[in-house]
Amino acid sequence: MGLCDIADIREILGRHGFHFSKSLGQNFLTAAWVPEAIAEVCGVDADSCALEVGPGMGCLTEQLSKRAKSVCAIELDRALFPVLAETLADCDNVEIVQGDVLKTDLKQLCAEKFGEQARIHACANLPYYITTPAISALLQSGVFDSVTVMIQKEVAQRICAAPGTSDYSAFSIFVRYYADAEIAVNVPRGCFVPQPKVDSAVVHMKLRGTPPVEILNEKLFFAMVRSAFNQRRKTLVNSLGGALGSTLGKTGIQALVEDCGFDPRIRGERLSLEDFAALANLAHQRISLSEQ
Ligand code: SAM
Repeated sequence: MGLCDIADIREILGRHGFHFSKSLGQNFLTAAWVPEAIAEVCGVDADSCALEVGPGMGCLTEQLSKRAKSVCAIELDRALFPVLAETLADCDNVEIVQGDVLKTDLKQLCAEKFGEQARIHACANLPYYITTPAISALLQSGVFDSVTVMIQKEVAQRICAAPGTSDYSAFSIFVRYYADAEIAVNVPRGCFVPQPKVDSAVVHMKLRGTPPVEILNEKLFFAMVRSAFNQRRKTLVNSLGGALGSTLGKTGIQALVEDCGFDPRIRGERLSLEDFAALANLAHQRISLSEQ
């Protein structure tokens, strides 16, 4: 039985009366090299554990099981449980839990399944509809050594984009705050059933112990980044009005941008993580002073 063999997939799913759900982002892999590559790239080994999101029929779970000390996979769709019981019958180090990754306390689940001291790698062929919230939750949980996910190629390019490029976005900065990200593998749409309308890519994110910049007020920092990219055609001074207009006012924002050494006509899309950190830290100091 091949978990990526299209005839075997149809036979097993047909026997279990399973139908693909578009709304759950169910596009299963049909090319065996892909789950092998994802499991290899994620870096899990006999001394570490893997948390998988959305095992589907278990093709990636099987590859993680071969390499990891222990694997826990969260699957939302109960209809896949009898399928997984059959396909992963020989994988003794795998446990499947039912749940929605977005509503799961990942820290608590990992402590329960792997213990407090374990090194853990998160891995997934993510359903497209939860790409951004799932990556955010995995990065912010504070429990993973790395996060390796297959997602839409264009989103992968946005995550890894450099300042000043058209793909550069608020999400590029968000991810860079937590991890070093790189596109590890490109995967064409023909590698899935049903075939999606877009190509995919595997992004490997290696978490850092400490962020590359010190941020005095994370909430303000992320609000300023979002504000700058919400209106990316506007100058930085104008776009920051959304985050700082009510506290610093237009002249205060202009002074802030100039005092950080930027041309007031610059656009936010040209600023690096470090630039935004400097701006946000100075803004935090000025707001705190004005509130005293
Ligand atoms: N890993 C399999 C593969 O590569 O062939 C299936 C990947 S498929 C793109 C996404 C999987 O995530 C499906 O099994 C789907 O049921 C599951 N899923 C969808 N939403 C989920 C959620 N919120 N939490 C956990 N699993 C979810």
